[in-house]
Amino acid sequence: MPDTQLMPIPGQIDPVPVARDITPRADGRVDLMGLPKKRIAELLAEAGLDAKAAKLRAKQLFHWLYHRGVTDFEAMTDIAKTMRPWLEQRFVIGRPEIIEAQHSTDGTRKWLLRTADGHDFEMVFIPDADRGTLCVSSQVGCTLNCRFCHTGTMRLVRNLTPGEIVGQVMLARDALGEWPKGRMDFIVPDDEAEEASEYTSDGRLLTNIVMMGMGEPLYNFDNVRDALQLVMDGDGLALSKRRITLSTSGVVPMMARCGEEIGVNLAVSLHAVTKDVRDEIVPINRKYGIEQLLQACADYPGASNARRITFEYVMLKDKNDSDEDARELVRLLRHYDLPAKVNLIPFNPWPGATYECSTPERIRRFSNIVFEGGISAPVRTPRGRDIDAACGQLKTSAEKKSRAELDRLAEEKQAALEA
Ligand code: SAH
Ligand code: SF4
Repeated sequence: MPDTQLMPIPGQIDPVPVARDITPRADGRVDLMGLPKKRIAELLAEAGLDAKAAKLRAKQLFHWLYHRGVTDFEAMTDIAKTMRPWLEQRFVIGRPEIIEAQHSTDGTRKWLLRTADGHDFEMVFIPDADRGTLCVSSQVGCTLNCRFCHTGTMRLVRNLTPGEIVGQVMLARDALGEWPKGRMDFIVPDDEAEEASEYTSDGRLLTNIVMMGMGEPLYNFDNVRDALQLVMDGDGLALSKRRITLSTSGVVPMMARCGEEIGVNLAVSLHAVTKDVRDEIVPINRKYGIEQLLQACADYPGASNARRITFEYVMLKDKNDSDEDARELVRLLRHYDLPAKVNLIPFNPWPGATYECSTPERIRRFSNIVFEGGISAPVRTPRGRDIDAACGQLKTSAEKKSRAELDRLAEEKQAALEA
């Protein structure tokens, strides 16, 4: 029996299994990663602290966990020395396990991660001159099967827990060496004063987060919301909601709640302007059509000219890339009066994909038409292609390897037949 039990999420639109909020561990300790302050206080009270002490300790733990990135209770210098082993016996501060770390020639980094119950997923870091973006996964695999997306071909799907989602940000900060180095206890003894350096959070590499890794974040709404709240918490990772973007393929019924309860920037994977084409390449369109989707965008809380909605549009040769498509895109976005920008994504191929990327001339022409319509439509440069880290290429190396393994076995079988 694996040490994580799976249970269905009640009321979910397309139910997928999710680990419980607290994953049972073989050693009986509780992983605090992903838990909000209030839940930590409850656990401390259950372990025997009185309500006031539990609240105070929870505040301290929260700060060490999310603001300082500490994983060892011994390092928590403002918690009494005798208290630290008490915590150690009952709790751990976990991270997803790193199975493989890859570095692209363009600076992009990709990590293959594993949950405690053995499911693999990926995270990508994309450095730019003025920012560093972490592309975070919300599910292992995806139920939605968009025809051009490699993640959609994965068989196994499980929602990631808040701990596994925020754990990706924690790991990235670990890997980039971005935790504040100084001491945070307020009275530094004289003999240790030298060790105490300035506490600063400036000059970090990781500045932005996009929920554009594996999975559909709005099919794992509660866990994504809880994780992003930890990321945005001023006492936690303290990242501004303006630096976080959630990308959805168009789960219309969850979009208003996304704006109200999370409040981050919205990106919508539009990819087509006619029912026929979108039905084919983004199958969720058969459930929630283009009009419904654009109306939900027009109603998105917080959207304004200062905070525009990004429409992602993957460029597929002879499928969605004509002049007419570009003009229809402008018409639609204007018709709904959307504060919009369009991101044109050259299709990133993967083995077995049935589409081709549009030619550079076609993409330029498409971009110009949308620009002339008064809507910004830059072409996104694919990053990390050499390590399969670009948009839509995420599918765990473990699965890719098993496919390679299968191919090898098939070849051997064929060779044996021919012999
Ligand atoms: N499930 C969410 C977020 C993850 S995908 C969504 O679909 O929006 C992030 C973006 O990459 C989406 O716009 C997706 O459509 C796009 N994408 C997927 N496969 C791609 C590929 N092979 N080439 C280019 N972009 C791709
Ligand atoms: Fe899922 Fe997004 Fe890929 Fe579609 S594009 S299969 S929604 S991850």
